[in-house]
Amino acid sequence: MAKRDYYEILGVDRNASQNEIKKAYRKLARKYHPDVNQDDEQAEDKFKEIQEAYEVLGDEQKRTRYDQFGHAGVNGDGHQQYGGFGGQDFGGFGGFEDIFDAFFGGGFSGGERRRRPRKGSDLRYKLEIEFEEAVFGAEKEVRIPRTENCEKCDGSGAKPGTQPETCSACNGSGEMRQVKETPFGRFVNVATCSRCGGEGTVIKEHCPECQGEGKVVRRRKVKLNIPEGVDNGTRLRVRGEGQAGTYGGPPGDLYVDISVKPHDTFKRDGTTVYSEINVSFVEAILGTEIEVPTLDGKSKLKIPAGTQPKTEFTLKGKGVPHFKRKGRGDQIVIVNVDIPKKLTQKQKQLVRELALSMGKNISSDESFLNRVKKALGGNE
Ligand SMILES: [Zn+2]
Ligand SMILES: [Zn+2]
Repeated sequence: MAKRDYYEILGVDRNASQNEIKKAYRKLARKYHPDVNQDDEQAEDKFKEIQEAYEVLGDEQKRTRYDQFGHAGVNGDGHQQYGGFGGQDFGGFGGFEDIFDAFFGGGFSGGERRRRPRKGSDLRYKLEIEFEEAVFGAEKEVRIPRTENCEKCDGSGAKPGTQPETCSACNGSGEMRQVKETPFGRFVNVATCSRCGGEGTVIKEHCPECQGEGKVVRRRKVKLNIPEGVDNGTRLRVRGEGQAGTYGGPPGDLYVDISVKPHDTFKRDGTTVYSEINVSFVEAILGTEIEVPTLDGKSKLKIPAGTQPKTEFTLKGKGVPHFKRKGRGDQIVIVNVDIPKKLTQKQKQLVRELALSMGKNISSDESFLNRVKKALGGNE
């Protein structure tokens, strides 16, 4: 069989730059790599041909000789060179790995046919934390059940010593194609292969450890650094702590949804903390200095004379630290004024005297009311 022209194989111009040649090679290598293109029986041969062409054209010295003398000039025998090509950019199977790293994110080992690496799925975890932990941050250790690659079969699912076999129903593509001719044209229906579930391979003998899943569930300790200022509904991402990837793919991520327990004393709205404090009506009238609880411990608060119920006092910087930026919010202290429900006779008398001094005769008001009731024919 006559050898094809190397430029033709790579589909590049005779005066293409090294960069163009490399690009064309990578594109074709991806397309015809036997691990990717499993439904084309000729893919492997084409792939070798591409390799051979690139080994020559990708090397300026060999390329010059090829330009001058043709195939004879480079002594090109593709099948000998395959596997042993030692260009400067690629060495052995390392060249394949480079392509795969760029394409799928790593995890391809040469030689055996492997299925496509896939990233593991993400995990969600709901974490309830204390109010103070949300405010000031915390380090938590949680145990999260998640799938990991089975160590016994290295994630293949096949009994150690055996290997998954290419699915005969779909020839390893994982897809079933149905072509329908209709008056409107040709429709190709692509469905997942039912025999292998789209994996492209089937396992004859299952790994006893994982029953062929290639994965096992483990409860794994994960350390979580809760930053200060998180709130109800804050979602934290922990890279790489999700489910294991498939066929060498990277693991997914772990998403931690924070929920914060309510606090007995404090309520929170963003970075503002609210608390209530009770003072007696006498303190509200005369003024005082009291201690109020804050997130940092007790703090003094001056209640001026004549403070009205529900007055709000601001404690600057005593609120919640901002999430992911500097500074803290404020604490708002709301003052409740206690009105005593029970007074002794003596205390009542004192209040009446107070009222009298303010121009209100409460005792005569009472007798006035009683007189009115009697005049109206009260039943008492
Ligand atoms: Zn296993
Ligand atoms: Zn199949």
